[in-house]
Amino acid sequence: MKILILPGDGIGPEIMTATVTALGALNDKCGLKLDFEQRAVGLPALEAEGSTLSDDLMGRIKATEGVVLGPCDTYAYPLPDEGGVNPSAATRKELDLFANIRPSRARPGVPALAPDMDLVIARENTEGFYADRNMFSGSGEFMPTEDVALAVRKITRQGSRRIAEAAFQLAERRRKKVTVVTKANVLKVSEGLFLSEVRDVAKAHLDIELTEVLIDAMAALLVRTPGAFDVVVTTNMYGDILSDEAAELSGGLGLGGSVNAGDDHAVAQAAHGSAPDIAEQGIANPVALMNSVALLLDWLGGRHGRDDLTGAAKRLDGAIDRVLEDPANHTPDLGGSAKTSQVGEAVVAEISK
Ligand code: ATP
Repeated sequence: MKILILPGDGIGPEIMTATVTALGALNDKCGLKLDFEQRAVGLPALEAEGSTLSDDLMGRIKATEGVVLGPCDTYAYPLPDEGGVNPSAATRKELDLFANIRPSRARPGVPALAPDMDLVIARENTEGFYADRNMFSGSGEFMPTEDVALAVRKITRQGSRRIAEAAFQLAERRRKKVTVVTKANVLKVSEGLFLSEVRDVAKAHLDIELTEVLIDAMAALLVRTPGAFDVVVTTNMYGDILSDEAAELSGGLGLGGSVNAGDDHAVAQAAHGSAPDIAEQGIANPVALMNSVALLLDWLGGRHGRDDLTGAAKRLDGAIDRVLEDPANHTPDLGGSAKTSQVGEAVVAEISK
C-alpha cells in the first residue's frame, strides 16, 4: 500500500522528517508493507513547478488512498491564477473528505489545563461557512456594493447526515456518548437541518446517549467539564474553533492530530498551521503530525479489515504516550527544550522495543 508524503511549508519539512522516520520504524516493526512516495507541495512546489499544487500532483493524490500532508502557509501563496492553490482546501473538495476527525486527549506527563479531557471532534468538512468550498462556481463571499460584504453558509441534508453517521460510528468504538453542537436557537433553518439529521441518525444507535449543546455554552463547558465529552459532532467552522480550544486545553496545539476522511481517501494533517515564526529552528513539536498518522493508519485498517494497521496505530499512540511522559522529550511549546529530531528518535526507540 502506497502512502504519499507531502512535507508542506514552514515547520512542515522538520515535523515530517521526524514523523516519516517513526512511520518507517513502525512499517518495519509491524511488517505493514507500506511504500512511501514523497513529493513537494506548497512554496517549494511553487518554486520548482510554478504551482503550490500542480495538476500532476493532484493526480497522484487522487490515485493514493492514504496521504500525509504537512501544514501549508497559504497566507504566503500568490493568487490561484499565479499558482497559489490551497492544498488543504483543494484535497478536501476534490477527494470529498467530508469528515475531519480531531481527537484531544491529555497525555500523562504533559501539563494540561484539562487533565481529564479525552474527546474526539467530528467536524463537517465540505460546506458550512467556508467560502472557497461551498459553491459549485464562484466564491461564497462577495460584496454587492463597496460597503456591504456577504458570506453564504451552506448546510445540506446529505452533508449533515454523513458526518452524523461518522460521529455515531466513532462513539460505538468509544464511550458511547455524542454531543451535537449547534446554534439552532438562532439559525433555526440551517442549524435546524443539521440538528434534525443528527437526531435522525441517533434513532439507529439507541445504545448511544445524544446530548444537544449550543456553541456558546460549549465554549464554556469545554473549560468547565472537559471530561464530560466523548464524541462531539458539529458544523465546519464551529469544529475548527472548538478543536483548537480542545487541543490547547489538553496540552497544546503541538499535540492536536487530525485526519480528513472521505469514503475512499484519507489525508493525515496536523490541526495546527505552518508556524513560520519557529520554522527551520528544529524546535517544532512533531507529535500532532504523528498523532495524525496514527489516525490515518487506524482509518486504513478499518477500511481494509487489516488488524496490523489498527494495531500499528495503537502502537504509535502508545509510543507517543511513553515519550511524552518524560519531560526531557518536551519541545519548547510544552515548556521543555527538546529538539524535533530528539522527539522523533525517542518515538522510534519506543516503537522498536
Ligand atoms: P493556520 O491559520 O495556518 O492554521 P495559525 O495562525 O492558526 O495557522 P499556527 O501555525 O497553527 O497558527 O500556530 C500558531 C502558533 O502556535 C505558532 O506561531 C507556533 O508558535 C505555535 N505552534 C503551532 N504548531 C506548533 C508545533 N507543532 N510545535 C510548536 N509550536 C507550534
